[in-house]
Amino acid sequence: MNRAHIIGAGLAGLSCAVRLAEAGVPAVLYEQAARAGGRCRSFHDAALDCVIDNGNHLLLSGNRSALGFLETVGARDRLVGPEEARFPFLDLATGERWTVAPNRGPLPWWVLSPSRRAPGTGLGDHLAGLKLLTAGPGATVGDALSGVGPAALARFWEPLIVAVLNMPVETGAARLMRPVLLETFAKGADACRPLIARDSLSDSFVDPALAWLEARGTTLRPGTRVMGLDTAGGRVRALRLAREEIAVGPDEAVIVAVPAWLADSLVPGIETPGGGEPIVNVHYRLSSPPDISGGGPVLGLVGGLAQWLFVRGDVASVTISAAAETADRPADAIAGEVWREVAQALSIASEPVPRWRVVKERRATFGQTPEAVSRRPQCRTTLDNAFLAGDWTDTGLPATIESAIRSGEVAAHAALDRRA
Ligand SMILES: Cc1cc2nc3c(=O)[nH]c(=O)nc-3n(C[C@H](O)[C@H](O)[C@H](O)COP(=O)(O)OP(=O)(O)OC[C@H]3O[C@@H](n4cnc5c(N)ncnc54)[C@H](O)[C@@H]3O)c2cc1C
Repeated sequence: MNRAHIIGAGLAGLSCAVRLAEAGVPAVLYEQAARAGGRCRSFHDAALDCVIDNGNHLLLSGNRSALGFLETVGARDRLVGPEEARFPFLDLATGERWTVAPNRGPLPWWVLSPSRRAPGTGLGDHLAGLKLLTAGPGATVGDALSGVGPAALARFWEPLIVAVLNMPVETGAARLMRPVLLETFAKGADACRPLIARDSLSDSFVDPALAWLEARGTTLRPGTRVMGLDTAGGRVRALRLAREEIAVGPDEAVIVAVPAWLADSLVPGIETPGGGEPIVNVHYRLSSPPDISGGGPVLGLVGGLAQWLFVRGDVASVTISAAAETADRPADAIAGEVWREVAQALSIASEPVPRWRVVKERRATFGQTPEAVSRRPQCRTTLDNAFLAGDWTDTGLPATIESAIRSGEVAAHAALDRRA
């Protein structure tokens, strides 16, 4: 293969381009938006007069593909987090605070220590949660966690699972939690330290990758929507753009790295999980940098509307996942209610309400039910030179940065294999 055409410059497309460039194959990245990054991007917000992310993104130190990607493009230091695996929490309804603190090493003795787990939870609750490791393909998280007590569900499992799956526990696919737990919590504290972008998502994941790729002959064509693929003889012959056609040579590959809900318009006949689940983020510009008690960059919140509070400089941002109901509410109502919770969490005055911005991502991830997960396609297609990438393809992982980046690697290997 002497060149690849990658449609979509989100993290899946970028990761694919990086692995191809490593193997000496330059690519052209076609991106319909003005900038790369897709669902993992940053922008200057006029209301707050600063750069914010479209949504808070949390990674764990066991996310080996994401960290490997950053290492390759020289940006590993642009993810930051505490030295220890510590997850401080606040129950907004009762005012109780606690910290979940897994220990080092694979033997999870932290579940035996009341000071390292949520109040009201016991060893049995954590052991019962291990059913997530053996859940069948049709099981929901709710099915798998039926033996877990209400306190452990509300104070540990639900916050973790809703954040990872962007689904309510009642409908989320249990099976997706298995690789997450095995690659992070099951390996001990070193694999489950929380990590966030140091300055912004684009500064960590996108800009360094683009600079690295440019130096290796890969180019980005922003503002370029691929309208369709012309196929003949079992392979893609050309990409159709608005005013141009790009021929795809016999020795070239096409990687379709667009979201689930757009992929079948480009590659007819493929099965996709379709749909989209919203995430709502609320950002506040404070008068000075606040301090999250517990010392981390992230605070888990239960008993209210807000779920996770992130702090970067003087910006406090709240994530609400599985937010179908919240996304339908007016932005000012969401901002007002969430601000009271943020003020409580940070122990600061609730008046006046600072400048805010509500970002509703209506299709943050595909709806990760067992049924939708069964429709995730492999990266190979029936077209000899076309491959799929994206967080929604069958990586086995939930639709996350880790899945997007891994899918790009898988697609790159498959395209290179074809050459071999
Ligand atoms: C608010 C929010 C919070 C999140 N939080 C987390 C988190 O905490 N941790 C985590 O790991 N993950 C999180 N995620 C998920 C993560 O952002 C995604 O899994 C990841 O960014 C998906 O990358 P992707 O490349 O697969 O898809 P995308 O980012 O959607 O990239 C696809 C790209 O294709 C482009 N495109 C589409 N059609 C065309 C076309 N016809 N021609 C050219 N270009 C096209 C799009 O513009 C887009 O740039 C979150 C997502 C959101 C929205």
